[in-house]
Amino acid sequence: MIPLAELLAASATLHRHLCPRQVLGVRMGMLAGRLLGLDLPQADTQPGGPSAGKRLLTIVETDGCASDGIAVATNCWVGRRTMRVKDFGKVAATFVDTQTGRAVRIVPRRESRELARRYAPEAKGKWEAQLLGYQRMPDEELFRVRRVALTVSIDQILSRPGAKAICGICGEEIVNEREIMHDGTTLCRACAGQSYYRPALDIPVPATPARPADISIGKAAPAATGVSAPY
Ligand SMILES: [Zn+2]
Ligand SMILES: [Zn+2]
Repeated sequence: MIPLAELLAASATLHRHLCPRQVLGVRMGMLAGRLLGLDLPQADTQPGGPSAGKRLLTIVETDGCASDGIAVATNCWVGRRTMRVKDFGKVAATFVDTQTGRAVRIVPRRESRELARRYAPEAKGKWEAQLLGYQRMPDEELFRVRRVALTVSIDQILSRPGAKAICGICGEEIVNEREIMHDGTTLCRACAGQSYYRPALDIPVPATPARPADISIGKAAPAATGVSAPY
């Protein structure tokens, strides 16, 4: 297990500062490893199977500082499809062992804010008391933990990353099996009425600057061919 101080340093580098919520996040991730018996942060790759290095799935209930701490402590990331954000506006997270189906939800105790002062008597204010106190408090005083059962199956959450469909209304591509069938028509969630936006007006895309900056991909930047690569 990587020590707390080391994980906090990594989180602070990513986040450009250290704050109490990152400490909570890192400690939530570390505790999840102990509860599920997983060696966290999980390795980037593990031998065997397409799910190598993706055994732990973390569902965070808010974006922001805590989620950075959790990501560093677990090595779960949105870009790897091992972290999902369900924005309930709570510093809370559920950690799912996708191999066994076991899931634990961890949330800081409401009293922990006040308790932190006792563990950091030298702190000059509330913020510093939490920053230091959260690093020193025992898990059992800091967190409440519950075993939970997911309401959506792990298979549905993970889905098939290669799957593709086309929305019968807007014509946009839908990946990861997120389409909805309605009266025999394939729909994206937006067209099915779950949209977070209302389309107002198509606007012209501004022309690309004459000489776009070279972007190196991997080791060598591709030579300019005049042919635009597919995205
Ligand atoms: Zn922060
Ligand atoms: Zn659509």
